[in-house]
Order: sequence, then structure tokens, then C-alpha cells
Amino acid sequence: MSQRIKIKALLESKETDREVTVKGWVRTFRNNQFIALNDGSTNSNLQVVVDFENTDAALLKRLTTGAAISVVGQLVASLGKGQTVEVKAKEIEILGDCDPEKYPLQPKKHSLEFLREIAHLRFRTNTFGAIFRVRNTLAFAVHQFFQERGFIYLHTPIITASDAEGAGETFHVTNFDLANPPKADNGEVDFKQDFFGRATNLTVSGQLEGELGAMALSDIYTFGPTFRAENSNTTRHLAEFWMIEPEMAFYDLVDNMDLAEALLKYVIGYTLDKNKEDLEFLTQRLTEEEKQKPQQERSEMTLLEKLQFCLENDFQRLTYTEAIDILKESTPNKKKKFQYPIEGWGTDLQSEHERYLVEKHFKKPVILTDYPKAIKAFYMRQNEPDAKGHETVRAMDILFPGIGEIVGGSQREERLEKLEQRMDEMGIPKEELWWYLDTRRFGACPHAGFGLGFERLVLFVTGMGNIRDVIPFPRFPKNAEF
Ligand code: ATP
Ligand code: MN
Repeated sequence: MSQRIKIKALLESKETDREVTVKGWVRTFRNNQFIALNDGSTNSNLQVVVDFENTDAALLKRLTTGAAISVVGQLVASLGKGQTVEVKAKEIEILGDCDPEKYPLQPKKHSLEFLREIAHLRFRTNTFGAIFRVRNTLAFAVHQFFQERGFIYLHTPIITASDAEGAGETFHVTNFDLANPPKADNGEVDFKQDFFGRATNLTVSGQLEGELGAMALSDIYTFGPTFRAENSNTTRHLAEFWMIEPEMAFYDLVDNMDLAEALLKYVIGYTLDKNKEDLEFLTQRLTEEEKQKPQQERSEMTLLEKLQFCLENDFQRLTYTEAIDILKESTPNKKKKFQYPIEGWGTDLQSEHERYLVEKHFKKPVILTDYPKAIKAFYMRQNEPDAKGHETVRAMDILFPGIGEIVGGSQREERLEKLEQRMDEMGIPKEELWWYLDTRRFGACPHAGFGLGFERLVLFVTGMGNIRDVIPFPRFPKNAEF
């Protein structure tokens, strides 16, 4: 086998005047002379110069956009603009032809919507190459961050019998013949006869199992797929998405916020360092895209500036109650510009409110804490009622510009009595979660954790506008193609 060199390594090497073998896909072939070759290792193409006078005309014809080729040639300093080195081809072999009449990707700008329909090919564009290299780096950085801090990567189950939030937006897992499931005497489907002997679903969160791990291992994190059968027809929701869920024993809410903020800064900083070229490309792409918008809708900062800003500034921390006061007094609220006007304390914030706080009021990432108990999950630690009698829980949401909620977390309720009481109030079956409650019976301790939606993070870092463009094969209502 030949010593193939990847284009990234080759473009970085200063060692010219040597023979190299490169393999990749033709992006363009112009003037019967210049091949722009890409192998996915970097955003940049390698220029391969073809000696067309001494090359078989039949072969030249097969150098079409999308064709897979292998080239042996001399690496030389380039005189052309935009590259320092190029390869003077000595031998070219076509590994796979690509019929330009039929190939859906043309060397021109395609819309993101069109590319979503050909998601099996969109990796071959500059934009998607950059996105998936950045996604890869972010995933690696997440592991590195936790591993450096002694966290244990815990694999929580994908198939579960619990619905962590009690929200009921789950996908069933069954091997029943759906046309004819076994029925119990009362006429209902008899899940006792199903594969697991009970009704099961795809996990919506690994948190509850993660907490079990933290009660022995101290600090754990999960990083896996989660599934929600919610109406995910938004630019921020998928039916299948990846989540990072750390759970830490002996952490309170402040420790929890500190960790989440450090994690976000670490992975963004790491990626700025590793994927400079991709982020420069994506920055340019976003700037171009924003030129289509009216002036006042364009962002004040470029993508790179936004990422840098996020690293250099403390996230703004405030309570839900303080946020409500700000929102109540805000110009859009007074001018009735919000679709959901802020009237009083207690309602959940809509994305328009979150975006106002982050993008207009504070102009930086925001961490909101101590939400009303009534709108949050049963496992969040209950605060003493405040002077006005408002009941809150030790929750925190991190809100990012352009994204809204990127992290949701809390200090967990470790007091058995309080937890059981809340489960009763919310109709969560205690018998089913006997194992979860056991951690509160045996050596309970203060602990906390959060969930970071991985695709929302990738959205923020790449500056893309739709979550369907930052996961290779998005799953959303009425779509499971590829
Ligand atoms: P939202 O209000 O935006 O629907 P949520 O309150 O349902 O979010 P959590 O249950 O707290 O979210 O989940 C933790 C994190 O997972 C969120 O902060 C977000 O980053 C991410 N997330 C939640 N739902 C989705 C989804 N459908 N697709 C992609 N990411 C999601
Ligand atoms: Mn949701």
C-alpha cells in the first residue's frame, strides 16, 4: 500500500520537493489543469496540477466534481494565490467515477434545506465538513474536561421503564405484534408478556441512574443519546439528541453552576484552538448569511468574537424572581411586544423572554436560578418559601444568545420526606422509583447535576441556525430518513 498523506498534514508540512500520495474527492477541476482535492481532513482543498498535454484525454474527462481519485506527484511550493504548496501530478487514478449529470452536488451554493434532503452527501460540502469536525472536537473536549477532573464516564441505559420527568413524551420499546398485542383480562395490552415483562421506552434522560452512580463514585457524567417524542418542529428541538449529564456528590447549586460555566468555557476554548480554520470559515459563512438580513437584525459580533466573548466574561447569575422583575419593567413588555406578556410571578419563561434577557438586557450568557417549584421537576431541592410566600426550587438554567436554554440543572432533593411528599403531589409513582428513593434512605448527601444539550452547544459554536444541521442524520416529526 502506498503511503497516503492526508491533506491537512500535507498543507501544514514545510517539506517540499518530495513525492507524495494523496487520495480524496474532486471538488472542482478547472482549465483542464487544476484539481481542488478534498479528503475531509481539513476545510482547505489541495491544489493538484495536471499536466494535461501529457495526460490521456479520457482520464481528464473523468475528473469531475465528486469523483474519488488517487494522485502520486511532487509536492512543491505554490506560486498560485491561496495556497503555499501544491502537488504536480505524475500519476492519477480514478477510484470512483461521479457522473456530473446525476450528481446532486454542484460546485455552487446549495440551500441548507436542499442539503438536508441529501444528508447522505452533505458531508462533502465545506459547511458540513466544518460543522462535523467542530462537533467531533467538542465531543472530545467534553470527555477531556471531565477526565481531567476525575469524573467517571457512566453508561446509563437507553431502554428504561421510567420517564425521568414524568412528562410522558417517550417512545415505546416493544416487540409485540402491534396489530395483535396480547390483552389482559381487563382488555388492556398485557405488557407482562412483552420482552421486558413490562412497558418500556427509550430514555429521555440518564439523570436518575446518573445520581445512583454519583452516590458511590462521587462525580460521574453520561454522554449519550436521548429521545423525546415531543413536538420537535422547532429549530432547537430534535426527537433524538445527545446529552451530557454530570452528577456530583457533595455539590450545591453554586458548585453546579461553577462546573457548568467552566465546562462550556473549556470546550469552546479548546475548539477555538483546534478548529481555527473551520471556525474562520463558519464565521465568514454567518457574516455572509447575515448580510441578507436588515441591519438591526444582524448580530453586533461575528461568530469568532461571540465565542471569544463567551470565554472572557462571567455568565450573569440571577434568580427567576429577579428576572421576572426585569422582564415586567422591560420596554417590550410595556409596549406589549411580547407574545406572552409577563404579568406576574410563577409562569414559565418563553424563549422570547429568555432571548430578551440574554441578547438585549445583559448581552451575555445568563444563569437563572431558583425557579418556581410548580414548573420544575420533582427531584429539585426545595427552598424555604421567601418573604412573599413564593415557593422555589434550587434549579438553574443556562441561557445562551441565539440558542435560549442550553443547560438545565439543579441541586437535587436529598431529603427523603421532602422528595416523597413532592412525588405524591405530582403523581409520580414511588413504587416504580423505589431504587431512586433508596439513595435517600442509605447514605444520602447533598448533590447536584445538570444536562447540557450537545446539539445546542454545537449550534452555538458553529453559528448555524437550525439544530437539524448540526447532527449528521436528524430525527424529527415525520422524518427518519437515512
Ligand atoms: P426546552 O425547554 O428547550 O424544551 P427542556 O427544559 O425540555 O428544554 P431539559 O429537559 O432540561 O430541557 O434537558 C436538558 C437540555 O437538553 C436542555 O437544556 C437542552 O440543551 C437540551 N434539550 C432538551 N430538549 C431537547 C431537544 N428536543 N432537542 C435537542 N436538545 C434538547
Ligand atoms: Mn423540552
